[in-house]
Amino acid sequence: MNAKERIAYLRGLLDFMPREEKETKVYTAIVEALDALAMELEEHARLLELQREDYDSIAEEVDDLHESLYELEQFVEMEDSDDDPDGGYDEDEDEELTESYISVTCPSCAYSFYYKYEESKGDGKLVCPGCGEEFSC
Ligand SMILES: [Zn+2]
Repeated sequence: MNAKERIAYLRGLLDFMPREEKETKVYTAIVEALDALAMELEEHARLLELQREDYDSIAEEVDDLHESLYELEQFVEMEDSDDDPDGGYDEDEDEELTESYISVTCPSCAYSFYYKYEESKGDGKLVCPGCGEEFSC
C-alpha cells in the first residue's frame, strides 16, 4: 500500500471499528501511513535531485553549443575576409553589393567598378570613375 491507501485505511478504521479495538490498530496504521509517506517523500526528493542533475547537464550542453556556434561564426567570418577575390572594397558593404550592385568593366580603360542597378535605369549610361568616359551598360 502506498501512503494514500494507508491513510484511507486509517480513515476506515476510525470510522467503522468499535471503540475498544481501535487503539492498537489505529496507532499501528498511523505509524505505517507515516512510514509510507516518509518513504514516498524520500523517493520524490531523490527523483527531484536526479532531474536537477539532468537539467544541469543539459544547461551545460547548451552552453557548450553556444560556445561552439560562436567559434564557428568567428571562423566563418575569418574565412570570408580571407576569401575576398576583389580585394578593394569595404568589407561592410559586402552584403549590399551582392544585392543591389552590379559589377561592370569600363570598355575604354578596363577599370572594374560597381554601380547601383536602380541608378542606371533611366538612360542606361554610366560614367567610368577611372577615366571619366561615358558608356552604356
Ligand atoms: Zn574607364
